[in-house]
Amino acid sequence: MCLTIPAKVVEIKGREAIIQKESATKTIDISLVPDVKIGDWILFANQTAVQVISETDAKEIVDLLESYHPNAQPDKLSEKFKNIIENSKKRDLTKEEIIYLLQTKDAEKEALYSEADVVRRANLQDFICIHGIIEFSNYCKNDCAYCGLRCQNSEVKHYRMTPEEIVSTAVKAANVKGYKLLVLQSGEDPYYTAEMFADIIQKIKATAKVFIFISVGERGLDFYKKLKEAGASGTLFRFETANTKLFQKMHPNGKNFESRLEHLKFMKELGYFVATGSIIGLPEQTLEDLADDIMIMKKWANMISMGPFVPSKNTPLEKEKSGDPEMNFKMISVVRLLMPKIRIPVVTALETLADEGGRKKGLLAGANSLMLNLTPGKYRANYKIYDNKFFDKESIWEKYGLFKAEESYQMIEERMGEELNKVIK
Ligand code: SAM
Ligand code: SF4
Repeated sequence: MCLTIPAKVVEIKGREAIIQKESATKTIDISLVPDVKIGDWILFANQTAVQVISETDAKEIVDLLESYHPNAQPDKLSEKFKNIIENSKKRDLTKEEIIYLLQTKDAEKEALYSEADVVRRANLQDFICIHGIIEFSNYCKNDCAYCGLRCQNSEVKHYRMTPEEIVSTAVKAANVKGYKLLVLQSGEDPYYTAEMFADIIQKIKATAKVFIFISVGERGLDFYKKLKEAGASGTLFRFETANTKLFQKMHPNGKNFESRLEHLKFMKELGYFVATGSIIGLPEQTLEDLADDIMIMKKWANMISMGPFVPSKNTPLEKEKSGDPEMNFKMISVVRLLMPKIRIPVVTALETLADEGGRKKGLLAGANSLMLNLTPGKYRANYKIYDNKFFDKESIWEKYGLFKAEESYQMIEERMGEELNKVIK
C-alpha cells in the first residue's frame, strides 16, 4: 500500500475541489467523497480525492512526509560539488565522484540530501510505499560474524512458524491490512523445502492479491526456480559488501562472495525482481568499498536493500562500533541520484540507530518506502539479527496506507514491470 501527503480543501465547485498543498493549489475530483467540506483534509491520488481524514492525523502525516527545506547556502558549495551534481543528471558518476559525495559535510551534505529529495519527488511524486516483512524462522545454518541469528549463537530462542501460520499471517496482512508486497524472511533454514515453500506461496496467492518476495539465503538454482514457478515475484538478497576480502572475513566458514553473485545472477535470469545491497559500516570497510557497493547495486538491483551495521550481542562483532546513520543517508542520496525511480526502503536497522527521526530523514534523503514488521508478536522478540527497537507509530502508516485495493497492486505491478523491462533492454 502507499501513503501520500494530505491536502486541505480551500474551495468547492460542484464535483471538484481546490486543494492547497504546500504552497500550490490544485483542482481535484471529489466524486468519491461527496460530503467533503471546505477546511477538510483529504488524501488523494491521480487527481481524485480518496478519503477525508482528521486534521490531527493529516498534520501527523504532513510532519512525516513534508519536503525538505534546508537553509540553502549556495556560496558554501564548492565548484567540484556543483559539477558532480550536474554530472549526476546523466545518472552516471565515477567512483571518485561517488567517494566525494560520501565525504560531504555540513552545507554540501545538506545540499546532497536536498538534491536527492528533489529527484525522488520529480520521479516518484509523494508516494511512500509500505511493505511488510514476516520473519518466519530464526534457525540459520550459517555463521555470519555480524548476525545475531548465526548458528554459533547459543542464546537464540529458536522458533519456526508452521506453513499454516505463515499463510494465515500473510493473507491477513494482505486482505485485512491492505499490504500488497510482503517479504517472507528467515535464517538459512533447510527445514523448509522448495515444495513446502511452493505450497505456501500458492496458498497465499490463491487467497490474496499480493506480491511475495523471499529472503531465505542461498538455496540454489532449483529451489528459486520452483518458487518462481509457484508465484514468487522477488527476492531480498544482499551481497553484503563488495570488498571480497572483508566478505571472507565476515564469513569464515560459510557464504562466499562468488556464490552470492552467482545467486544474484540466476535470480535475475529467472525473472525475479531483485532487492539487493550491502551493510554500511562493517568494521574495516572503507569509502572505496561503499562506492563499489553502489556500483554493484547499479548493476544488479531492481530495488535496494541496504542498511547500517548494528552490533549484535553474542557475535564476534558485538563490541564493534555501529554504522554511521549519516553515511547511510548519504548512500541513500547517491543511489537516488543514480537510480531516480528505484525503490529504496528505510530499514529497521537505520531506525534503530537514528531513532524515529531516522525514518523521516531516510525518506527525505531520497528513500521512498518502509518495511513494517508483521511477524506475530510471540516470535518477534526472538528474531534478533541485532537489538532493534520497535515504534508505535506504525498504526498511522497502516491506517492511511492508501489504495488498499486493486489500484495499489496495479501500481506496484506497473512499476515492477517498467523496471524489469528496462533491465532486459
Ligand atoms: N538469511 C538470509 C540472508 O542472509 O540472506 C536472510 C535473512 S538475514 C537476517 C537479512 C540481512 O540481515 C542480511 O543480508 C544482512 O545484511 C542483515 N544483517 C544481519 N546482521 C546484521 C547486523 N548486525 N547489522 C545490520 N544488518 C545485519
Ligand atoms: Fe543466517 Fe542470514 Fe544471519 Fe547470515 S545474515 S547468519 S545467513 S540469518
